[in-house]
Amino acid sequence: MKLSWTPYDLQLKHTFTISGFSRKTTPVVITRIAYEGLIGYGEASLPPYLGETQSSVIKFLQKVDLSHFSDPTHLDEILTYVDQIDENNTAAKASIDIALHDLAGKIIGAPWHKIWGLNKYAVPDTTFTIGIDTDEVVREKTREALGSFNILKIKVGGDHDKRMIEAIRSVTDLPLAVDANQGWHDKHEALDMIHWLKEKNVVMVEQPLPKEDIENIAWLTEHSPLPIMADESIQRLCDVEKLKGVFSGINIKLMKCTGMREAWKMRNLAQTLGMKVMIGCMTETSCAISAATQLSSGLDFADLDGALLIENDCFEGAKLEKGKMIAKNEMGIGVKLTESLNFNK
Ligand code: MG
Repeated sequence: MKLSWTPYDLQLKHTFTISGFSRKTTPVVITRIAYEGLIGYGEASLPPYLGETQSSVIKFLQKVDLSHFSDPTHLDEILTYVDQIDENNTAAKASIDIALHDLAGKIIGAPWHKIWGLNKYAVPDTTFTIGIDTDEVVREKTREALGSFNILKIKVGGDHDKRMIEAIRSVTDLPLAVDANQGWHDKHEALDMIHWLKEKNVVMVEQPLPKEDIENIAWLTEHSPLPIMADESIQRLCDVEKLKGVFSGINIKLMKCTGMREAWKMRNLAQTLGMKVMIGCMTETSCAISAATQLSSGLDFADLDGALLIENDCFEGAKLEKGKMIAKNEMGIGVKLTESLNFNK
């Protein structure tokens, strides 16, 4: 098995603003694992607020020695080894996990949704995210999304949340999800807001309060008429159980949980515990989005618009069909590299 990589910068179509940050690019690292004429592709997406960078990912990848493994389908052994190389580095680990799943699927001869026994069409509508912006821009972005999406996700937690929702409601009555990105601070005000949002056909609220505010989040979830989903409060498998009774459910992101293998375990554990499950993403290419799409069947919410927000997607993969991200029938994660990239070896 030969692992190689290349840094790549995603150009965003619109400047992206969430509670606290604005940006126009997202750095990623594309990985490749070659084995007996087959190639698996992976990706680490590195939005700055998560702390990993292209150079930290490359430093991690340089430590990975796959030479003592002879069979890429031994995912459990290989990924346990990769996880133990160093703490954190979850996106770097995901870039190996995804490439290895892609490769293993090609060796087995099936796409991962088939290996997992999932119906690739039984997936929730994906949300399309609209960032915090002026009313004019919010209305314009909403109009652009009409016809392609059945649900929109609105970033709130700024000073003009109600005004933004009203701006969207002046254009469409599509269901909405809202993501406060920890931007609300008082549980009573948050609950009043959630009641108001419910009247506006909002169907889900993501991370309303700061992640460490566990008691107040549990209170809010208990009183909320809408499901409250954890995002910043959840990273990996070991976090799932402690959030039962705190949130209605969890948002799983490959870049935070080290990839498809752990995401699959998190999904199964959360569902066993009676929690709702959402699959989310960063701004990333169709490579990581296609990987996430493989396990989106049977979930409550999907937020897989990451590749639709960038100008220079270097992969072809899962496609938007009637508001849902649908995986290809191709083996592995079902992607094709559409640009020639300069891998390091
Ligand atoms: Mg979120």
